[in-house]
Amino acid sequence: MPTPNTTKSDKAKNNNQSNITKLKGTQDIRNDQYYQFQGMFEKAQEISEYYGFKPIETPTIERASTYQKAIGENTDIVEKEMYKFSVKGSDSIALRPEYTAGIVRAYIEDGMVSEPQPIMLYSYGPTFRHEKPQLGRYREFRQFNLEILGSDKAVADALVIKTVYDILTDFGFKELIIDINSMGDTENRQPYIKDLSSYYKKLSPSLCKNCQERIKTNPLRLLDCKEPECQEFKAKAPQIINYLSPDARKHFKDVLKFLEEMEIPFRINNTLVRGQDYYKRTVFEVIQVHLDEENNEKELTICGGGRYDLSKHMGQKKEIPSVGAAMSFERIVMMPDCQKMNPRIIKNPKFYFIQLGFEAKLKSLHIIDILRHAKIPVHQNLSKDSLGAQLALASELNIPYALIFGQKEAMEGNVILRDMKKHEQEIIKIENLCEYIKKIK
Ligand code: ATP
Ligand code: MG
Repeated sequence: MPTPNTTKSDKAKNNNQSNITKLKGTQDIRNDQYYQFQGMFEKAQEISEYYGFKPIETPTIERASTYQKAIGENTDIVEKEMYKFSVKGSDSIALRPEYTAGIVRAYIEDGMVSEPQPIMLYSYGPTFRHEKPQLGRYREFRQFNLEILGSDKAVADALVIKTVYDILTDFGFKELIIDINSMGDTENRQPYIKDLSSYYKKLSPSLCKNCQERIKTNPLRLLDCKEPECQEFKAKAPQIINYLSPDARKHFKDVLKFLEEMEIPFRINNTLVRGQDYYKRTVFEVIQVHLDEENNEKELTICGGGRYDLSKHMGQKKEIPSVGAAMSFERIVMMPDCQKMNPRIIKNPKFYFIQLGFEAKLKSLHIIDILRHAKIPVHQNLSKDSLGAQLALASELNIPYALIFGQKEAMEGNVILRDMKKHEQEIIKIENLCEYIKKIK
């Protein structure tokens, strides 16, 4: 911060410095972290494809109203977290705070409704929420998202849960448990909301400011509050499970039967309502149980989802019974259980390609191209010129063989193959190079 004595040039310097920093809660992702996310996506994609999901990528920007109507005006996401702007008098635009609403918009707009049902989709990409940045909580984060649209069957709920459970298990997580609840049907929820409001009205002076508001604006969100002073009241609050219609009760029981059958550990959490207004019937979170530094058991939500129907929000007459889930890779990767994952394209090259002198450099890209076609990856450094420096880099990386291409070799059409451990080398004709080094184990 400039002090009162700061000069004009100091101020300019400070301004320049603050202009070249990334925004709070965002990250530059490169090298290992980039590969890790790519590896995680490939794994998640593979499992989803096995279960029958197909890819969809919707725009990062949508009409803000698409999310406002779907997620609900009095939710944290819409009220506090959604990035909203308008350009040159356009409608209000939002950076996607989640995938679901945009995917339902695409389902209707692209006519997926007339294709064989259900439509099963997975997506992966950046999501934006203006939250207080902290461990595992960013303002831009990458979500992997699943949706099954056009099925009201319990097996669809179970399939979404099974898919995310398998993905997380393959990422390396062991102590996973599904917190699950049923929120019943929106149209039958009024008696519950009434009882919940009158329960909380009596407690109003002891509640946080937000919750005092929520009693009037959106009582269900009272159960979603994260403030410590509001936690104790949840336990004695009326439970939605006692208000379910027979159909909703049966649906919930069926989902639990599937989980039992698949031996997925779960526990019924009567106060779980989740942060979006659109949920009906099943809501769930995948919880990771772990020990903190003081050996206390801690729980972290790494994935969440549930059943919903956005047909009315999107002006449709026909119901669109759907179920989905989302997880962010940022939240997952910080957990010690998460394994290191490499994308398929990343090979560990066994060869370090060394070029010496201008003639060799001229032809070196040609040789790398020949090797690429033969699927032989190499390490190289374009800016180092000396043999010693390049050999040192190869040793540092623990690469067993060097391919040395100097002035003489360029003229004669040869490459030197050097065994880095044995310090032995041999000369190989370029045309025989691929065939020869492919035999090296
Ligand atoms: P939380 O209770 O942690 O705020 P949420 O209920 O808002 O989560 P959802 O909207 O269900 O989260 O999003 C699904 C998943 O996306 C979460 O389980 C979490 O893995 C991830 N997620 C949500 N917000 C963030 C964030 N700000 N940064 C990183 N990951 C996030
Ligand atoms: Mg949140």
